[in-house]
Order: sequence, then C-alpha cells, then structure tokens
Amino acid sequence: MKRREVIKGLTVLPVAGAALSASLPLSPFVAAPVKRDLFAELGLRRFINAAGTYTFMTASLLPEEVVEAMVASSKEYVLLDDVQDKVGEKIAAICHAEAATVTAGCWSAMVLGTAGVLTGKDQNKIGQLPDVSNMKSEVITQNSHNTGYVHALKNTGVRIVPVETAGELEDAINEKTAMLWFLNYAAPSGKIQHEEFVALGKKHNIPVMIDIAADVPPVENLWKYNDMGFDLVCISGGKALRGPQSAGILMGRKDLIEAARLNAPPRGGNIGRGMKVNKEEVFGMYAAIDRYIRIDHEKEWKIWEDRIALIENAVKKVNGVTTTVSVPPVANHTPTLNISWDINRIKVTRQEFQERLRRGNPSIEVVAGAENSINITVFMLEPKQERIVAARIYEELTKAQV
Ligand SMILES: *Cc1c(COP(=O)(O)O)cnc(C)c1O
Repeated sequence: MKRREVIKGLTVLPVAGAALSASLPLSPFVAAPVKRDLFAELGLRRFINAAGTYTFMTASLLPEEVVEAMVASSKEYVLLDDVQDKVGEKIAAICHAEAATVTAGCWSAMVLGTAGVLTGKDQNKIGQLPDVSNMKSEVITQNSHNTGYVHALKNTGVRIVPVETAGELEDAINEKTAMLWFLNYAAPSGKIQHEEFVALGKKHNIPVMIDIAADVPPVENLWKYNDMGFDLVCISGGKALRGPQSAGILMGRKDLIEAARLNAPPRGGNIGRGMKVNKEEVFGMYAAIDRYIRIDHEKEWKIWEDRIALIENAVKKVNGVTTTVSVPPVANHTPTLNISWDINRIKVTRQEFQERLRRGNPSIEVVAGAENSINITVFMLEPKQERIVAARIYEELTKAQV
C-alpha cells in the first residue's frame, strides 16, 4: 500500500493530526516513504540531453547549490523588492554593472529594459505602455540582428528600424529614436561591430542594449559588455549559467534599471506585471551566477573536449561515418560534434535516426544537422552519460549499415 493511500484512509479517523503523525511512522503496515517519482507518475519521457540549452528541452539542470538556495529561501517571507535590491547589488558587482535585476528570462529583461528606457520614472508613461504615442518609439538595429527576438522589444509598443551601415544608422536617428539594439550572436554577420555601435549611441545620447542570452561561456562575457559601455545588457539565467529556466538578468545603468523595475512586479498597472520572478528564483539566480564565476572553466572545457573525443572516437569507427568538431563563435560557445554518414552505406534518414535515439532506453536528444547528419554538444550531460551517448549512436549507426 502506498503511503499516501494510508494517510488518506487514516484521515477519516477522529484522531488529532499531531497524534496521528506521531503514531503513523510506527505502523507496521506502512512501508518506508518512497520518494515520489513525478516523471513516472505523469508518464513523462526523460532524456539525456546531448543537444544543448534548448528552451523546449527545458534548457539546463539546476546544480545542487541552486536547488538548495531555492528550497531554503522557500521557507521564509521577505519583501520581494528587498531580495531584488540585495541580489541585484551582488550581481551588479560580479558583472561590473552599476545595477542589476533578476527578470523572468532574457526576453523579459529586454521587455523591461526597453520599457524603462521609454518611460523613465514617469508613472503616467508606465501606466500607458504599450501605447507609445507620446513617447520616443523607435528602436534601431542592424538588418542581420533583426530576428524573431526583436518581438521582445516590440511588446512595449516600439517600432523596429533596421539599418545596414553606420551611415544608415545615423541617418535613421530622429527625435523618436528611443534605443539602439545589438544582438550579440549576430555580430559576425553585421557591418557595425560592438565598439562602434556603442560609440554611436554615446554620440547621439541614445541608450544601447545588447542581448547576450546564450553567450556564456566564456565567463568574461558576464562583464565584457558592461565594461564596453552598453547601457543595458540582457542574459538568460537558465542556459549555460544553469539558474532557474524562467530567470534572467537585466543589468546596466542605474537609472535605467530603476526605471525598468518600476515597470515590473511587485508593482502592477504596468507592462511587466505578468513577468513576475518569485523569490526562490531570484535567490536561485544569485546562487547560479555565484557558482558560475567560481567553477574552474578551463577544467570544465577539458571535460567537454574529453567527452566529445570519446563519442567521436566511438562513432567514427563505423564505415561511412565522418565527424568534425567545431566551436560556435558566439552563442553556445562549446565544442560541438557533427556526425555525418553516407546514406548509401548507412541507410537511415536523419529524422529516423533521431527518432531511434529518442525511442531508445535511455532516450537521447541530439540536434538535427544538415542532410544525414546530427550535431551533439556535451555541456549539458551529466557525468558518464557520454558513454551511453557514444554506445547508442554507435549501435544505431551499425544497425543501419548495408
Ligand atoms: C534564449 C534567447 C532569448 C530568450 O531568453 P529567455 O531566457 O528564454 O527568455 C533571447 N535572445 C536570444 C538570442 C536567446 O538565445
């Protein structure tokens, strides 16, 4: 009999709660409490994450120190603003920013940061967003940076003005220009690089925001863009930082962070009221960044290289398989293994191959590559899982050989 069924049965007895719980553990028919397995209970597939910090795969796992911070902080009341003040000060100091606040993800950091730029501390304007009719209402970005992520900015009511060159950018500036926005991972494909972009903002006295959502490692990126002079820096908390998935950080100029917070909970009647971050997540974010700056990043990189080498060496033994290792220059900057196969010798499509890994036991998620190829990262693996990944991929490739 399960423990909770026993408890359910006993609650109908006319016994006081205290007496009941005192006698319960001694009952001969009660087995030792079993840890509840919610994945099993709800019939959920768990998997080994050889893909990376993908939002739809729940991004990353919380390290023990983060879980501890969240559980411990769940047991006391505190003012939400007080936690944000103190954690914000700590994060700002770590990241060389004047101020910082924990947001509901990088996306939320972008919404709130933009809102702060538009409204300042004007309560009327704060209550008015996303109606920007009497405010500055344009955000300039480079064409190659004008991706789906600008929707975070557009939530506030602004219009995006895409430009190609520095000259075009200066021509686009007018009395409606509220902000310049830079998407870090798109930097290699843009004509205006960071320093020049920041300088253009300074020259025209327009705040400049950067999105570095998935851009640690390297750890230095936590402060690099603050040092460079960006007015606002937005990063995800739940990707490689391994904080709560629904947390992020907005950091930068003190007056702008204060204005952003006026657009956010616990205050209501504003655009950010639905972007609440509970205290456990704020503490969790603090514990995560504190851990992240203390871990040995060189050692971790070496572990990733070793894991990649182990998988690569196993799979390239299969005839018809070729492998390459690369490191994306900006976002998800971690060793990435591409495994490709000759479809004439290994008869399985990429989709079917992924499906076989998914259906296996344990289930494994990898990333789709080009035709007849998959990509793997190992930074989200738990220790020793690389052996399972190597063995399973080897097995499926071998099975599909003709
Ligand atoms: C993941 C991501 C976001 C959104 O971040 P969340 O923390 O999920 O809100 C924004 N921009 C980029 C470039 C991202 O990769």
